[in-house]
Amino acid sequence: MHEVIEVLLNRLRTTAEAIDRPRFITFADQAIERSLQGKTFEEVVYGEMDAVAVDHLQPKVHACLENLLASDRFRWLVDEAAPASGEWIIDPPGYGETRLDGLKVYIKVDVLFPLGDEIHILDWKTGKTDPGKHRKQLVGYATWASIHFGIDPERVRPTLAYLYPAYEEVQQSLTSADLQAFAVQLRAETNEMYEYCRDLEQNIPLDKDAFPRIDDERICAQCAFRGICFPIKHPANL
Ligand code: SF4
Repeated sequence: MHEVIEVLLNRLRTTAEAIDRPRFITFADQAIERSLQGKTFEEVVYGEMDAVAVDHLQPKVHACLENLLASDRFRWLVDEAAPASGEWIIDPPGYGETRLDGLKVYIKVDVLFPLGDEIHILDWKTGKTDPGKHRKQLVGYATWASIHFGIDPERVRPTLAYLYPAYEEVQQSLTSADLQAFAVQLRAETNEMYEYCRDLEQNIPLDKDAFPRIDDERICAQCAFRGICFPIKHPANL
């Protein structure tokens, strides 16, 4: 998905001509096919699906792209942002390493649009809205841009752009006080994580027993580490 949107944005930098939708969708299908090559999916590892095929992903990818193309945000990109497209930063290289209150943090943005005296950041999302988790991302993006470009956080406009099931945006205005509170929260969470390390220097965790399981099947069902708590029974061992 991100690769396809990246190509779309790069195209906007060179032309304002209408998009050939069938050709664009064909390109998206080819990108899905490439993205599946050599990839292992959680759903397959945990036996929830036999395989992930192109036609499993196509409907959602097509819907996301159609939603984006029909959105006010896309019109904004064409009409307002594109004239300054020479300034756009799409998928910046590296891992977004930065320092916050002496802590090393990684904040990777998808795309950044300097416009006038503001910096707009867009983060494409295909999953469900999660206000708690995503507010942290918005603050993180504002922090990163504010530090890297040396501007007031009030001039950074971070936006989470949900592409599915309908196009929807979550934005937040942030102040220096928000960023300071974020740094304090990050420090407290980091210290909490350190308590679960046996060796901080080597990043070695405590034994498994020090990590009690939570008692909520719904959360476990979504957890990327569920194989550790609930080892997968391979057919050969049944
Ligand atoms: S499966 Fe994940 S969420 Fe559930 S107890 Fe294990 S680590 Fe925690």
